[in-house]
Amino acid sequence: MIIGIDAGGTLIKIAYTENGQLQFKKSPIADIEGVAKWVNGLGDCEICLTGGKSGVLRSLLTKQAKEIVEFEATHRGVQFLLSKMGRSETTYLVTNVGTGTSIHCIQNDSQERLGGTGVGGGTLVGLSHLLTGVSDYEEIVRLASKGSRERIDLKVKHIYEGKEPPISGELTASNFGNDLFSISDELTKEELLATVIGLVGETVSTVSVQAARQCDSSLVIYIGSSFIHNPLLKEVVESYTILRGSTPLFLENGEFSGAVGAMTTL
Ligand code: ATP
Ligand code: MG
Repeated sequence: MIIGIDAGGTLIKIAYTENGQLQFKKSPIADIEGVAKWVNGLGDCEICLTGGKSGVLRSLLTKQAKEIVEFEATHRGVQFLLSKMGRSETTYLVTNVGTGTSIHCIQNDSQERLGGTGVGGGTLVGLSHLLTGVSDYEEIVRLASKGSRERIDLKVKHIYEGKEPPISGELTASNFGNDLFSISDELTKEELLATVIGLVGETVSTVSVQAARQCDSSLVIYIGSSFIHNPLLKEVVESYTILRGSTPLFLENGEFSGAVGAMTTL
């Protein structure tokens, strides 16, 4: 058995082969001891670790394990999962919306980190909790998918009243920027959560499209667990990326890129 483990800030992602089949597994970082116990209880296996918490995991393992830098693992994993989807692109941007967001340019079989933003999946959960008291991720994304951003976000067309705006009036002029002091008590959890997801989605796609100019490619591959069960985030990111002239692609099992990449080094 060969196992790749990506221990990130929020979730531990595991990719392994069993009877020649690729399998995936994930656990919250709070259960890092449970993951170590699972690995320690396995028979003969080869292990490669990556991610910010790989050092903590390593200290809990009774088996030998290799280690690879997170960005390299992600790059390898994206290549692997992309070819599994039957795609053959070699130049593209990768935006990993994890706890935070990291952006990479892939060219000539190597990756360069172009930058990132602190607005990511951690922001989605943290801001959602502060605004609504909801703390369960699945509950946040379920409620958000039923909400409207109409009353909370300020669009360009709201500012350009009775006048043709120089850019699309449908663009967000200001996330949470609408005149909402007088209605703040009546806003629903669904509306607030949808607007948080709008803020995260528009920020990561805007930064990605700007970074794509440095990368000689208009293809932006989005990965990271923030897209799990989150059709609203996908929709915001997809439409904003297209609106800004790039092509979005959501990689199948993309949240396991780091784990898969680590596994492929074995
Ligand atoms: P980083 O790469 O920044 O160190 P990470 O690898 O842990 O972090 P991901 O696993 O890619 O990050 O994404 C974490 C985000 O995914 C969370 O912030 C949250 O928005 C979302 N998420 C998806 N499923 C869950 C879940 N079951 N529990 C908590 N967060 C989840
Ligand atoms: Mg990660």
